[in-house]
Amino acid sequence: MSAPNIETIVSLAKRRGFVFPASEIYGGLGSSWDYGSLGVELANNIKQSWWRWLVYERDDIEALDSSIIQNRLVWKYSGHETTFSDPLVDCRACKGRFRQDKLQDVECPNEPSVCAGSRKECDLTEAREFNLMFRTTVGAVAADDDETALAYLRPETAQGIFINFANVLNTSRRKLPFGIAQIGKSFRNEVTPGNFIFRTREFEQMEMEYFCRPEDAPQIHQEFIDGFQSWFHSIGISAENLKLYEQSKEELAHYAERTVDILYRFFPERSDENAQFDELMGIANRTDFDLKTHSKKPEDAEGKRLNSDSTEDLSYFDEAKKERFYPYVIEPAAGVNRTVLAVLMDAYTEKTNQKGETRVILKLKPALAPVKVAVLPLAKNKPEIVALASQIKKDLQHAMRAVYDDTGGIGKLYARQDEIGTPFCVTVDHESLEDQTVTVRDRDTWEQERVKITELKNYLQKRLS
Ligand code: ATP
Repeated sequence: MSAPNIETIVSLAKRRGFVFPASEIYGGLGSSWDYGSLGVELANNIKQSWWRWLVYERDDIEALDSSIIQNRLVWKYSGHETTFSDPLVDCRACKGRFRQDKLQDVECPNEPSVCAGSRKECDLTEAREFNLMFRTTVGAVAADDDETALAYLRPETAQGIFINFANVLNTSRRKLPFGIAQIGKSFRNEVTPGNFIFRTREFEQMEMEYFCRPEDAPQIHQEFIDGFQSWFHSIGISAENLKLYEQSKEELAHYAERTVDILYRFFPERSDENAQFDELMGIANRTDFDLKTHSKKPEDAEGKRLNSDSTEDLSYFDEAKKERFYPYVIEPAAGVNRTVLAVLMDAYTEKTNQKGETRVILKLKPALAPVKVAVLPLAKNKPEIVALASQIKKDLQHAMRAVYDDTGGIGKLYARQDEIGTPFCVTVDHESLEDQTVTVRDRDTWEQERVKITELKNYLQKRLS
């Protein structure tokens, strides 16, 4: 099974310290979230898995960490200043403000609903374009609206990669094809954020730009579409909750030749099967648009430079073919936060114990689990047991994320670890003091096994991998 809806995950996340509403003690800040201990670990593990799979396990990917605030010209030539906007509509009746293309996903802001809970009843204004980039000013400027100091918080990590293409190429001495990977925060002043961490104004992206010859782009594109589905399976997302979506000609960005989105069943409660799915990541063939637009050389029909500000030409010289051209780019772009949500939803399971009580088990892949092993003393009033349990935790902590917990009875402690997805619990009891063995309990089967303390680390490492 997986979670019946996002709300189930919202309450689990808050109850157990994965994710909290941001600025909560001041009434919150619409759709901003803070990640607690377990959320940080889970997100880190997801990013590490992506990084390992993409950067370490291949031989053709370089890494980058570019600035969030760049020269404003980056966003002029990328097209974001003029086209990175959503169509905004206002309702004259309920005074709500909505994204025209996402009307079906939003609720009337009034209680009770002025528009009968349905956007169809809304009295909507004409749509107008609303730019999603957050504006800021750089340096000690006289006025907030000083255009010369205007800068933006990046709305995607991709542009930082394109403008560093020549730096990476020259320092790594790469030949095509190769990619540049980056993980980092992005910011979009979304018109209608919501659905927990699905759509927020501050979020994190895992993006890779893969540069190749134009004729190789379609096949490489397909390989990444297949590859990323496999990666999602490898981190525990079931195939039945994933779906591909091929963007239509009308939906494609002006620079894209083909874009395929990988969708996840974020809304299983919806009756319409298609409406259950929404975007987890996008994989686009962006053609040679990006490197060309940031280059100083390309000219229009009259011989005028298309980019009069760039000081660099981001073309590539193919030594073997003695040919200069602008590489095509394949871009797999995934959201960290949406992946966290999908992983939590897919791992969510309920199980009934012998007493007939329902227990939540988060069946996370061990690699993603925030805590790998919890060491629990059976009797916390026995100093020898407590000391041995603490020592076992210390011995394990170098090899894996281990925690010690003695804040409840053993049944409660097991239930708590199940609920946060800890694959193994190690229990230290009276017998442990005599025969130097402990009980290892499996999260998914609740089966218990007696293991020698001297062999515990190896035993756990083997089972965790
Ligand atoms: P959407 O159509 O849902 O607005 P998008 O197509 O604009 O998303 P991309 O620009 O392709 O998104 O960004 C790549 C990925 O970044 C998305 O697939 C998603 O996982 C993540 N992402 C984009 N916007 C947000 C957001 N506001 N909150 C959380 N994650 C986001």
